[in-house]
Amino acid sequence: MKIIIAGAGIGGLTAAMCLHRAGHDVQVYEAVSELRPLGVGINIQAGAVRILCNLGLEPALAATAIETRELRYANRHGQTIWADPRGRHAGLPWPQFSIHRGELQMILFNAAKEMLGADRIRLGRRIARFAQHHGKVTAHFVDREGMPAENAEADLLIGADGIHSAVRAHFYPDEGPPKWQGILMWRGVTVGKPYLGGNTMVQAGHHNQKFVCYPISRAHAERGEALINWICDLYMGDGALPSREDWNKPGRLEDFLPRFADWNFGWLDVPEVIRSAHTILEFPMIDRDPLPRWSHGRITLLGDAAHPMYPIGSNGASQAILDGEAITQELAVGDDPEKALRRYEERRLPPTARIVESNRRKGIDVMLDIVEQRAPQGFTDLESVLPAEELEKIVGDYKKLVTQDRETLLKLAAAAP
Ligand SMILES: Cc1cc2nc3c(=O)[nH]c(=O)nc-3n(C[C@H](O)[C@H](O)[C@H](O)COP(=O)(O)OP(=O)(O)OC[C@H]3O[C@@H](n4cnc5c(N)ncnc54)[C@H](O)[C@@H]3O)c2cc1C
Repeated sequence: MKIIIAGAGIGGLTAAMCLHRAGHDVQVYEAVSELRPLGVGINIQAGAVRILCNLGLEPALAATAIETRELRYANRHGQTIWADPRGRHAGLPWPQFSIHRGELQMILFNAAKEMLGADRIRLGRRIARFAQHHGKVTAHFVDREGMPAENAEADLLIGADGIHSAVRAHFYPDEGPPKWQGILMWRGVTVGKPYLGGNTMVQAGHHNQKFVCYPISRAHAERGEALINWICDLYMGDGALPSREDWNKPGRLEDFLPRFADWNFGWLDVPEVIRSAHTILEFPMIDRDPLPRWSHGRITLLGDAAHPMYPIGSNGASQAILDGEAITQELAVGDDPEKALRRYEERRLPPTARIVESNRRKGIDVMLDIVEQRAPQGFTDLESVLPAEELEKIVGDYKKLVTQDRETLLKLAAAAP
């Protein structure tokens, strides 16, 4: 089957490789004319790494990324609330990877070029219009200047064109901009000393003021350093989104550093990490409401185009990768592609909508808020602040929701080739 994918991000490139492997004739069109390693860090859950391993990408990922050993939640004094082993350290057959988002995209881009052929990924081609007729989709692309550049015809079109998806906007023209609930994020990368073994992801503080960090570079680790990706979240009050968000907008220290001035955990000096950053970017925490439908005839949505969500629980890239596998598997069943796209939607829309909604209610981060409310000055006995039973319920419910619970992952492992 001939398939057009609009967008060569994490989701589009993964889907392209999965579909090519299944024998489809895939052509990817990407708006930017040069793919550069943009962004800062990103985490890929073991269940999604499984799909990248099946595509043969584990060696390239392992050579670049940090294999995350532990996820640790702490209060704003650095006291541990919950720690969870990750990936292989939790007995799963795949690792969890912390990696630079741009490097991940370049690994996927190079692998896709090798697998599909370089001419199968057309850069500088923004999808502008499309139409369906007689069992075919025709798509029209423009170049960087907005001039008509190319038309293509295929059996299916997948919109993997991110949070400002043109494909989504065609079906939902009145949707408007993404939703913002008042949290700004400052994201940075700092070369520092390894902390907690050099492979721990930390989430500290509470919903309105949080510090997240994880090392993302194997090369730095081999030199005895840590390339620490960090994010400071601050609640700025209700109101309209200040300006259209931009993944590359520079951030200013004075806007957030003073609020973290006394966050020295002993094992990590947060203000020192922030001050030593060589990159600081500012980005609002945004998402969109879940849609009633993704699939319309022979056209569907995938990744952030379908389900942009708050970056809570390392789900953005992981869920986009899971979409690529799901659409490939559904197209392998029966010979009606429209029905396959509806099954893909039935399989993936409800769980991703639940994650969007749960993340708005703070998701697994709710444990941080409970501890902040009950023990703002810190605790000597966690059990008296957040009993183990209550904590286990928060964690268990969230893992089930994002299908990262051990049972689901081990079922996947048993079914893995
Ligand atoms: C430049 C950039 C930097 C990012 N940095 C981070 C980060 O540091 N940390 C983090 O957690 N997440 C980051 N993200 C978001 C993260 O990549 C996604 O949330 C997640 O990986 C889901 O991937 P996706 O492929 O669905 O969307 P994306 O990764 O957003 O990819 C969408 C792709 O579609 C292309 N595109 C857009 N419009 C069109 C069009 N009309 N026609 C054709 N192509 C189009 C875009 O250029 C992009 O390459 C970044 C995204 C971008 C685009």
